[in-house]
Amino acid sequence: MFRLPELPYPKTGLAPFLNEEQMSFHFDKHHKAYIDNLNKFIDTDASLKGKSLEEIVVSSSGGIFNNAAQIWNHTFYWFGLCPQGKGGKPSDSLMAAITKDFGGLDQLKEKFIDGGMKTFGSGWIWLCADAAGKLSLVSTSNAAVPFTGGGPRPLLTADVWEHAYYVDYRNARQKYLETFWGHINWKFVSDNFESNQVLSLTKSMTA
Ligand code: MN
Repeated sequence: MFRLPELPYPKTGLAPFLNEEQMSFHFDKHHKAYIDNLNKFIDTDASLKGKSLEEIVVSSSGGIFNNAAQIWNHTFYWFGLCPQGKGGKPSDSLMAAITKDFGGLDQLKEKFIDGGMKTFGSGWIWLCADAAGKLSLVSTSNAAVPFTGGGPRPLLTADVWEHAYYVDYRNARQKYLETFWGHINWKFVSDNFESNQVLSLTKSMTA
């Protein structure tokens, strides 16, 4: 059985990027609903019991996949954020990769936001790295994650479902993404770059 993760900051800690009402709907209602739904599936499907969240994500389809993947995506999204001014900067090795593959941090920001703007409908924009450390931007629809089917490991994601920003930003997805950029936890991103594997989020969501 899974539960909501503990956020690494108070629920008001991201304001005014994400205000309390936005956080309450997104974390306490949307994210929690995916957890409640997956727990119902686990209750009635013995093959899911004891599996890690990552194992469920890469081996399921349909409603089980949609809920499990959305749990993974949201927890990863929250862990990649931090209060303004606390985010630090990319590690030296991540910065070298950003310079090599994008030309620099400003260019990565521009391409990341552009990728988020071009993600049609509901989805996610991801900064990823392959096994050789090559960076790429990946846009996914609905619940899809980059790492199924041998895809690259995520380093950072922004939720671009309307529910992620509509309370605070209405239809201004661009402003949401630009403000997002100032709240990135670069230690989290750098750790994901250096770990060379998909981050396991299971422990942070099980008792
Ligand atoms: Mn969301």
